[in-house]
Amino acid sequence: MEELEISEIITANDPTIAWKACLLKIKENVSMMTYNTWFLPIKPVELNNLTLKVQIPSQFFWEWIDEHFNALINRSITEVLGKDAKLTYIIAEDKSSSEREDNVSANNGSQPISVERQKPKHNIESNLNPRYTFDNFIKGEGNQLARAAAGAISDNPGGTSFNPLFLYGGVGLGKTHLIQAIGNQIVKNYPEKKVIYLSSDIFTVEFVESIQSNKVNEFSNFYRSMDVLIIDDIQFLIGKEKTQDLFFHIFNTLHQSRKQIILSSDKPPKDLKGLDERLISRFQWGLTADIQPPELETRIAILKRKAETYGMAVSNEILEYIASNITSNIRELEGCLIKLLANVSLNSKEITFELAKKTVKEIATDRKATNINIETITKVVCEHLGVAENKIRDKTRKKEIVLARQLAMFLSKELTLSSLKTIGLHFGGRDHSTVIHACNAIEDYKSKDDSFNRIIDELRDKIEFST
Ligand code: ADP
Ligand code: MG
Repeated sequence: MEELEISEIITANDPTIAWKACLLKIKENVSMMTYNTWFLPIKPVELNNLTLKVQIPSQFFWEWIDEHFNALINRSITEVLGKDAKLTYIIAEDKSSSEREDNVSANNGSQPISVERQKPKHNIESNLNPRYTFDNFIKGEGNQLARAAAGAISDNPGGTSFNPLFLYGGVGLGKTHLIQAIGNQIVKNYPEKKVIYLSSDIFTVEFVESIQSNKVNEFSNFYRSMDVLIIDDIQFLIGKEKTQDLFFHIFNTLHQSRKQIILSSDKPPKDLKGLDERLISRFQWGLTADIQPPELETRIAILKRKAETYGMAVSNEILEYIASNITSNIRELEGCLIKLLANVSLNSKEITFELAKKTVKEIATDRKATNINIETITKVVCEHLGVAENKIRDKTRKKEIVLARQLAMFLSKELTLSSLKTIGLHFGGRDHSTVIHACNAIEDYKSKDDSFNRIIDELRDKIEFST
């Protein structure tokens, strides 16, 4: 394309011309691979008053380019359309409801200025993320019951026997996705209904704030006036007795007036030790449904779908490889694809089997770093050495307890990202120098006694296994 004058583009008011002109500038600054991966999938939609609207394949896609190419995009748009130009985008997955603005004239302003949502007939902010829909939720054996119940509730909120719907399952298996999909669907089907989504820790924070500002009644009445109350990760209410008590009353009011309650948790109700019995029994009034990790076919289907949305061309062989190696968590499956995309785009590589292998390995390493915690380490070490767990924090200098403590400190340093200070705090508020001393002592034993290395290897395996 020939160089175009700004005035020509503006008068033409043609988004395609404007975006093409931007692409020319962008192309000069990035590799061909990056250009093809990240910029070609962007489609111009509309040019209006110096605001260029483009369509992006997914929210993730936007976040990625925003993080890596924000300055470049801003510069090119400013060069093409002038300093008052603006870029707005819509997500292809969800054209109507996720529209954000990027003010290009601000030097690095990438904050979304406004988020347009479905338009309910009241002023309640639902907090729902439009990204979570039934359409992009892949069905599988592991989520069959949960998905079916979710669909039934969306068609008839408060009117089924699934009240409350209590959804539980491990991390990254789609609980948040599914309960928000119900919310989004209800907003669509019944714009007059007041739907609200929040996690139980936000609920707790709001409650505490309401106490401080003397507005507990308002707080409570607000939630009692909802038609659909969706609370994520209800397990975080454990140990928060006052919040539980208030929630109990809100629950009763809503349930009596046949309003829909939807809850998620990492465990079934009966295993929520430390939660008020009255709540546990109420949670079982409706339907309790679990989400199990997806089987291989579902994992492949999910990956395929995500690859499509990201506009990635990945061979079936590679998708199958990823799906066979990342088995327990859908967030990780997604993460792997994103990492792969990043590796490809930043290093101008092609998506090869080797690269997929490397990426899967990186994900496994990340998982270790984030999931292993000092509690697990302490537990495993104590079990292994036959030492009572509470003793390890005591002042005692008994030989086997000192050894257990030193081993646990050593492994905490090796296997977690915790600072020496944090590690010390976990072991009876000891100083960071004690942790250093413990690590040195263990290194010393290791160098003198080979069987010690074997014990440490066994412990490491056990810890990774229990995580
Ligand atoms: P949880 O709340 O159980 O920890 P999330 O709902 O946050 O899990 O899911 C993690 C990620 O995996 C999200 O990006 C979600 O969209 C995706 N995901 C989970 N289940 C599915 C599914 N069945 N189909 C498609 N994407 C899924
Ligand atoms: Mg969640």
